[in-house]
Amino acid sequence: MAEVLLFTEVDISRRVVETVESSFRGLLRLAVTRADLGEAKAKAYDKDRGQIRADLLLDLLKPAERRWRRYVYVVEGDGYAPGLNFVFGVAYGDKAVVFTERLRSAAELFELRLAKEITHELGHTFGLGHCGDPRCVMYFSNTIGDTDLKGPGFCPRCFAKLERALSGR
Ligand SMILES: [Zn+2]
Ligand SMILES: [Zn+2]
Repeated sequence: MAEVLLFTEVDISRRVVETVESSFRGLLRLAVTRADLGEAKAKAYDKDRGQIRADLLLDLLKPAERRWRRYVYVVEGDGYAPGLNFVFGVAYGDKAVVFTERLRSAAELFELRLAKEITHELGHTFGLGHCGDPRCVMYFSNTIGDTDLKGPGFCPRCFAKLERALSGR
């Protein structure tokens, strides 16, 4: 089982964790810890855009211990990456970041969106690309409407790839 550590600036309910874990169908366990990411965020903040540069932020976020398989950061604010107006999240190597600002809504919807984005970025860290199935969690979200349309889980093809990636080592 892949052990993943999630650092978060916002409250992550049990439901978010359960939704992510159930999408991975027992292949992944998510541990959650509160973290102050302010220093790295300040360094990666682009004053002109009023946004956080996602790739720079991930470079700056270096977990003290490397015993976890993957690391996810849930960051308050809005993120972008070079060439993109905004990103809901990004993944590089064994780390992923998800930004909360564009996911904000009533609690229940916010939690579901958060779970989908966390699952999506984790999927990338395990080698999955974007999927053409608009109901699959690996579908690329151009707008928040795309996120709301897709399910929290992987389509059969993506899940098969994921299973291979996770059982490979
Ligand atoms: Zn993606
Ligand atoms: Zn898929």
